[in-house]
Amino acid sequence: MDQVVNWFVNSACNLPCAYCFRERDLEEKGTEGMLRLVKVLGKNKVKRVTIGGGEPLLRSDLERILAALKEEGIFVSLHTNGTILKQRIKGLRGLVDILSLPIDSVEEGENQQMRGRPYVGLIEEIMGYAHPEFKLAFKTTATRVNWASLPKIYDLVRQVPFDYWKVYQFRPLNEAQVYDSTFALPDKTFEGLRAELSGLADRRIQVVNRKEGHQPYVFLDNQGNVSTVHPDLEQNIPVGNLFEADLEAIGGCIDAIYGEGSSWGFARKVRINWRSPENWCLVKERGEGTFRMRVVTATRYDDPRLAYFSDD
Ligand code: SF4
Repeated sequence: MDQVVNWFVNSACNLPCAYCFRERDLEEKGTEGMLRLVKVLGKNKVKRVTIGGGEPLLRSDLERILAALKEEGIFVSLHTNGTILKQRIKGLRGLVDILSLPIDSVEEGENQQMRGRPYVGLIEEIMGYAHPEFKLAFKTTATRVNWASLPKIYDLVRQVPFDYWKVYQFRPLNEAQVYDSTFALPDKTFEGLRAELSGLADRRIQVVNRKEGHQPYVFLDNQGNVSTVHPDLEQNIPVGNLFEADLEAIGGCIDAIYGEGSSWGFARKVRINWRSPENWCLVKERGEGTFRMRVVTATRYDDPRLAYFSDD
C-alpha cells in the first residue's frame, strides 16, 4: 500500500488566510493518543505520511510524533506555513524528509489579500532552510489575485535546490466557498498559466487544476477518521475510521467511490460506519475472481437498498 495518508494533526493556526479550507473543529488529541495512531499507521503498512493542519508546529509534541513515524519507517512530508520554523528547525532534522512551504506571491499586496500578512521576508528566511538533510518543496494557490505574478515565484525558488513546486488552481473547498467570487480563477486563465509554466521546461513544476484536484486523497484526523475529496462536489466526505477498519478496506471504499481505476487496486467485502452513525458506505466483492464494487450511501440503516448486503 503506497497511498499517501494526509494527516491533519491540529486545526489551530496562527494565520488568517482568506482561502483556507481546513477543518476548524479537529480534536487536539494528546501525545499518547497520537502515538497510538502512529502505531495504527505502521500496522497498516503506510509508507508515506503528509503532516498538515492548521499549523502543525503549534503542537509542542510534533517532534515526538514525527520521531514515532520515523521509527515505523514512514516517509514524512511536513506542511507548515513557515512562520514559527526558526525556533524548531534544528529539532526537525532527521525527522522530516520533505519540508513543504507555501509561497503565494512575491508581491506584498497580494500576500496581504490572500494570507493576511506580508510574506516576502519570511520567504527569504524559508529559502535559507534548504539543507542536505531534507528536501524543500513549495506550493502555491493560484487565484484571481495572484495568478499574473506567479512566474516571478519561479525566479525565486529556483535559487535553491527544491523537490517540487505545486501550483493549485483555487478550489472553494469547505469554508473557502464564501471567497469563491474573490479568488476563483477561470479555467481558461489557469490553463494559460499552465502553458506559461510549461514553457519553463522544469519537470519539478506540477500544475493541478480544479478537476485534477478531485483525487482519491486519504485524509486522516486525530480520531482515526478517514475522509476523501468528493469526486464531484467541493467538499470532503467521510469514508471510515482506522480504529474500526483497516486502511485497505477503507481504501476499497474510496476506490469504489472513484471507480475501479484508482490505485487502490481492489475492494473487498466491508461495511464501514461513517462518521455519522446514520450514514453507511458499503463495498462488496462479487463474482468469481473478479472484483466488482458497489457503493451504497444511505441515511437510514434500514434503507431497502442495503438489503442487497444482507447476506454479510
Ligand atoms: S496557514 Fe494554512 S492552515 Fe493556516 S490559515 Fe493559512 S491555509 Fe489555513
